[in-house]
Amino acid sequence: MLRLLNNGPPADRVVVAYTDSPPPQTWVLVDGEMEGYCENDLVKSDEVADFEFSNISPHACNEITAFAEEHAVVFDGDPPFTLNADVVTEDAAPPLLLEVNLWVVVSDGTPAADVWADLETVFVETQALLDANRVGVTLLLPSADGTWQSLATWVWPTGRLLSPGDPARTIGANCTESGVNGLKNDPSLYDPNRLNLYVVDYVLDGNGANTGQHEILCAFDAVTQDPLPSGHDIIYFSRLSRMNASLAHVLGHAFSLLGKTWGAVGDGHTGCWWQTYIAGFANDNIMWACVPAGTDPRKTFSLGQVYRMTLDDDSWLIKSGLRAPTTKLCPDDPAGDDPCPPLALSWWD
Ligand SMILES: [Zn+2]
Repeated sequence: MLRLLNNGPPADRVVVAYTDSPPPQTWVLVDGEMEGYCENDLVKSDEVADFEFSNISPHACNEITAFAEEHAVVFDGDPPFTLNADVVTEDAAPPLLLEVNLWVVVSDGTPAADVWADLETVFVETQALLDANRVGVTLLLPSADGTWQSLATWVWPTGRLLSPGDPARTIGANCTESGVNGLKNDPSLYDPNRLNLYVVDYVLDGNGANTGQHEILCAFDAVTQDPLPSGHDIIYFSRLSRMNASLAHVLGHAFSLLGKTWGAVGDGHTGCWWQTYIAGFANDNIMWACVPAGTDPRKTFSLGQVYRMTLDDDSWLIKSGLRAPTTKLCPDDPAGDDPCPPLALSWWD
């Protein structure tokens, strides 16, 4: 009689189902080993989206998260693991479509076509960074016909290039409570349901002088440094002072990489110049601040960052309703691993 050897506990499988062409690689994080602690303690990546685990405890917090290029991050906070061998299937979906309410303010005499062509390079770079880092978000921009289009079909909306003398040219005079409230009171320029991106030549201080800032999310008052809870959806972006990855960087802030406590080291930044703020990061990280012009190596978000960008309730992706709310309140401590993985958790092959 043939006797099957029992090689330990029954195997569990997590299958990510793609209805379109599968991406080259998928990452899955599973909270399933340590009981009573909500750490994603099982992490795998493979070119096939079918992952086998030796044993997943139904008594862990049980959570499955999956990441892949050009697909929305998959999150299941209640997968049906049992004490027996289970196959849990998660359906992958196309990227989230993020409508960006774009306005552009430029100095007199700047040819509009030059401005739009310049900005198109910014959007192409930003979309490529979001895709390569598996953020699962496609930017949609207002197009010339009034519809919202991805870059593939975007037609420059000249109507959103503000003309000289327009009172709206005070946009970009830094993030202050009065400035933010002024924008919010102008429905022609501000949409509470969208991320509002104001491209300016330079970010100015209260006296009209160039602050030199590359980009800024109005989450804090630039003068008092008090939190501006009403400004999390307002971005000023300097077209002429920007660095590589500047727009991806400020989107990182909008997607919860902000540091929850003003004054804490970093405020969402992982380092600056030669100084590392958060162990495990280097100056290729998109949230690195203060990089030399022309040599900017920023190109990566960590796996831990993308997890928070898409699942922390502080992210605009959740605040805007694009993603369903989770119960995730990721710890202030970047090394914390419950209920979110450490911020510096990296991708690997
Ligand atoms: Zn920053």
